[in-house]
Amino acid sequence: MYRGFDKSENTEKIKGKISRRKLLERTLSIIKPDGVEKKVVGEIISRFEKNGLNVVAMKRIKLSKADAEGFYAVHKERPFFGSLTDFMSRGPIVVMVLEGEGAIAKNREIMGATNPEEAAEGTIRKDFATNIEENTVHGSDAPETAAFEIGYFFNALEING
Ligand code: ADP
Ligand code: MG
Repeated sequence: MYRGFDKSENTEKIKGKISRRKLLERTLSIIKPDGVEKKVVGEIISRFEKNGLNVVAMKRIKLSKADAEGFYAVHKERPFFGSLTDFMSRGPIVVMVLEGEGAIAKNREIMGATNPEEAAEGTIRKDFATNIEENTVHGSDAPETAAFEIGYFFNALEING
């Protein structure tokens, strides 16, 4: 039976959709040269997928030293900047955009602490990292850095959520 158009019910449905949509977040993930060398690309992507993060963009590329310096510009005054950018440009990496609810924090949790000696059991860095520098994965740390980092590697056509 046709019940007529209930405006308030429809408004509630739309509001529900908007608030669910708002929780969806995107973050940049990198499998660093050591992760590619150790052949754990598949294992790492599988951990993201099992934890509710969808890969909505992905490519395997090799950074020049200048590319790595641009990406890590926020760290240019740090003592490890030269060594870090040498490492990041020494071989291919896999860059991805991950999408999911609370994706930025979730990815950081799956990655583990920067220093693998301090990383929790079952995290990527605990399981695969060599040391504090060669720590297998990168993940954006805030919405602003995620926006910059995603834009550093991908254009809108390459991201398909
Ligand atoms: P994270 O990647 O966990 O966000 P940071 O933003 O502090 O960590 O550092 C960026 C990257 O620089 C780290 O992932 C690591 O590769 C490298 N790095 C951080 N601290 C050191 C250090 N003390 N010595 C060498 N490399 C470091
Ligand atoms: Mg960081």
